[in-house]
Amino acid sequence: MATPLPVLGFREWVVARGGLVSSIRGEPWPEAAARASCEIGHPAPADDCRCGIYAIESWPKIGDDRLYEEAATPMRLLAQGLLTAVVLAGLAALFAMDQPLVARGSWMPAFLIGAAMTLGLGAVVAADLAIMRPAYLMGAVLLSGRVLRYENGVLRAEHARIACLVRPIGVRRVLAASLAGRLGVPLFHWYERNQALRYLSEHGDPWERASASRSGD
Ligand SMILES: [Zn+2]
Repeated sequence: MATPLPVLGFREWVVARGGLVSSIRGEPWPEAAARASCEIGHPAPADDCRCGIYAIESWPKIGDDRLYEEAATPMRLLAQGLLTAVVLAGLAALFAMDQPLVARGSWMPAFLIGAAMTLGLGAVVAADLAIMRPAYLMGAVLLSGRVLRYENGVLRAEHARIACLVRPIGVRRVLAASLAGRLGVPLFHWYERNQALRYLSEHGDPWERASASRSGD
């Protein structure tokens, strides 16, 4: 049942304190290569179990619901945009309210309005920052050994090796670069899909994507 050639898949990881961990079960990925195991004790992945290293068989769409963190991204970006708009509107309102008071020398009311607004806006900024936690990274993996395939394009594999990491929109560049450096794999940014696909084509990518990327989908 082992695949004769590696299968290319795509997956995501959550960024934890010690590095990348799997997004659902929180298993650490200290190195580029990983091997599946099952707590029940059988070789992973098994047909009637949920074990194995998960990936999807193609480059994910924005908000792809076969992934976990990525599925929530459009809503997160919308919420972050709205919260940022609230902060900007709040600062404009604060300025409009305080300016006439300060001009008249009414320092106490100006201070109280300023303090109340700062508190409220601070809470909005905190919510804004909390939305993007935990940070996550996406990437292409070469799957080998036993690989199970499902109709929805989900794969469960025995072995996986990270071929490259992809920084999603909204995740800090420095953070992504340091994790890629630690694992010794190249990093591409979310807008560099074609460069990533070209890199994968040169490194044993079995996907036929040179033409797909040209058609611009
Ligand atoms: Zn199992």
